[in-house]
Amino acid sequence: MIELIDIEKAYIRKKAEPFVALRGVNLKLEKGEIFGVIGRSGAGKSTLLRSINLLERPTSGTVIVGGVDLTALGEKELQEKRKKIGMIFQHFNLLSTATVRDNIAFPLKISKLSSKAIKERVDELLELVGLTAQQHQYPSQLSGGQKQRVGIARALANDPEVLLCDEATSALDPQTTDSILSLLKDINRKMGITILLITHEMAVIRSICDRVAVMEHGQIVESGTVLDVFLNP
Ligand code: ADP
Ligand code: ADP
Repeated sequence: MIELIDIEKAYIRKKAEPFVALRGVNLKLEKGEIFGVIGRSGAGKSTLLRSINLLERPTSGTVIVGGVDLTALGEKELQEKRKKIGMIFQHFNLLSTATVRDNIAFPLKISKLSSKAIKERVDELLELVGLTAQQHQYPSQLSGGQKQRVGIARALANDPEVLLCDEATSALDPQTTDSILSLLKDINRKMGITILLITHEMAVIRSICDRVAVMEHGQIVESGTVLDVFLNP
């Protein structure tokens, strides 16, 4: 479902040599799996995640999602393909001046669905994440866990094949983390969506990932099933 082939990323800097954040990264995710990438701050996890929807364009290498080479697409085709790659963030990235309902509707409006179709889809998504009662509230009125539920509903609006999670539970307490992780697991099971998450927390990997890769200094230094990587010497 996702294939990264020999990805290099050098960040160009103004008064210094380019900084190489990814060096020869190869990764292959099967459809429907939950894959975790773990590593210390600065290891290159976020750069890796953002390479998949080309929010960061790799300096070289190939990014294939659902059989399509994204690095070969023009801007317009890429915009279309990006709708099928949902993303959630550590700090949620909600529109503070829009209600829960309008935050979730936002990507559907960009996709130019009819208002009837938008209403029906938003109702469905509100139910999926358990926020029907909060639909007219603003983000500032919600708990962290509720905000992330809005983020998840918004990410799923266009029915993506892939969900990218950027430290999605790192701003949440342990109990809320568990409830968000079990929601992600449910969504993975029900919709067959492929999930790639990055985290610095081992507990997150243990809780929901099928496979894991360990990153250090811009490289994947180990990968395999969670059992293989963390329990076998
Ligand atoms: P992680 O998500 O594992 O913390 P990142 O991918 O955010 O790692 O960053 C990897 C490295 O790349 C870090 O050393 C960071 O400072 C550097 N980096 C990230 N973004 C930029 C940028 N825009 N310009 C220069 N260096 C960057
Ligand atoms: P730290 O342990 O804080 O990452 P290091 O001295 O190991 O400190 O690394 C300093 C910087 O150089 C880091 O941002 C890292 O990404 C980069 N770096 C470390 N090791 C390598 C390496 N083998 N090849 C290229 N860059 C490296």
